[in-house]
Amino acid sequence: MPSGIYLHIPFCKSRCSYCDFATDVYRDSDAVERYVAALVREIKSEPPALAGGQFVDDSERSANWPAEYAAGSDVDTIYFGGGTPSLLEPQQVEKILNSVNKVFSVANDVEITMEMNPATVTPEKLDAFRSLGINRASFGVQTFNERDLKLLARGHDANDARQTYRMLREAGFANISFDLIAGLPGQTLEDWSRNLAEAIAMEPEHLSLYLLEIHEGTQLAEQVRSGRRTPIEDELAAEMYELMLDRLTAAGYDQYEISNFAKPGFESRHNTKYWRLEPVFGFGVSAHSFDGRHRYANERDTARYVEMIEHSSSAETYREAIDLASEFAFLGLRLENGISLKDFAERFGFDLKERHKAEFNEFFNAGLIEENEGNLQLTKKGKLYSNEIFSVFV
Ligand code: SF4
Repeated sequence: MPSGIYLHIPFCKSRCSYCDFATDVYRDSDAVERYVAALVREIKSEPPALAGGQFVDDSERSANWPAEYAAGSDVDTIYFGGGTPSLLEPQQVEKILNSVNKVFSVANDVEITMEMNPATVTPEKLDAFRSLGINRASFGVQTFNERDLKLLARGHDANDARQTYRMLREAGFANISFDLIAGLPGQTLEDWSRNLAEAIAMEPEHLSLYLLEIHEGTQLAEQVRSGRRTPIEDELAAEMYELMLDRLTAAGYDQYEISNFAKPGFESRHNTKYWRLEPVFGFGVSAHSFDGRHRYANERDTARYVEMIEHSSSAETYREAIDLASEFAFLGLRLENGISLKDFAERFGFDLKERHKAEFNEFFNAGLIEENEGNLQLTKKGKLYSNEIFSVFV
């Protein structure tokens, strides 16, 4: 099965108030250059699970897990995530892509996504990214409301977002995804409605829409603790979610995953690999990989990651065999089509509904899940309470 490649670029212009990702503020170009060299070295060292496209330890593969799900060296998606990868210089991106091409057999129609933030690119840089083969932009808008942009400490204003979007189109990006966040402290349903209206009017091919989660250790968590910010009520969050479903569906977007909407044919190929439990190799600080059987993860601190790679070409800090059946079930339920119960039984050798009979009966009765032509799916209401449903499998 073709694999995906994830490349983590941890640098950002500043730190947003809600962010708990592995990121560092971009201070000096030497540090970035050293990081890129480490990343290239890690890629070239070849992931441990790959040995001519095969598992190193074949005996560890689940008896019920078909061989075609193993990671191979064929790659059909590459994803630059972060952080803010658009802060990289084109020649740094070129070095990274060259190293991927040396180790992996990259498909001609590879989807190459780069996360880009407003006010981090110029037309010249975008032209260079396009000519390097980057064909999808994941654009971090979050909100068009100036007050909310300040609350999130995004470091750009709404006009920066509008202008960068125009530049992306002028550079020829024909596959653009927008990120928007709902449920910000102080945000009203009307604010959210205006955000949706502006996003839809700009006609991106794809939208990723999240409800704000307040993570421990972030500035925003501190502001909430000290009483300076008040999280919105659950009822309002539910209304925002429903409004988003109605508006985007009416505008011709398909909700193919709980938080993701696309015009037909523009679903993210890379992210779909995670939800279908397909292999993805991650490189860079804090990057995670799944080779068809194991998950493994890299060191989370950038300076330590660079040192580890410079000394031993590996920054792996843990590896674990995962419960494939459980992960397949709850990741698959995130997708609009859900999971085929027949495929599940063939693959894992047991009946999922029978195994979780008591919980599933409860969910069916509460209208949270439904069965549709042999597929188990979340209902509209179930998508709102998805965490409760997924906890059955964890
Ligand atoms: S731009 Fe993204 S990764 Fe960077 S600090 Fe903000 S939220 Fe975090």
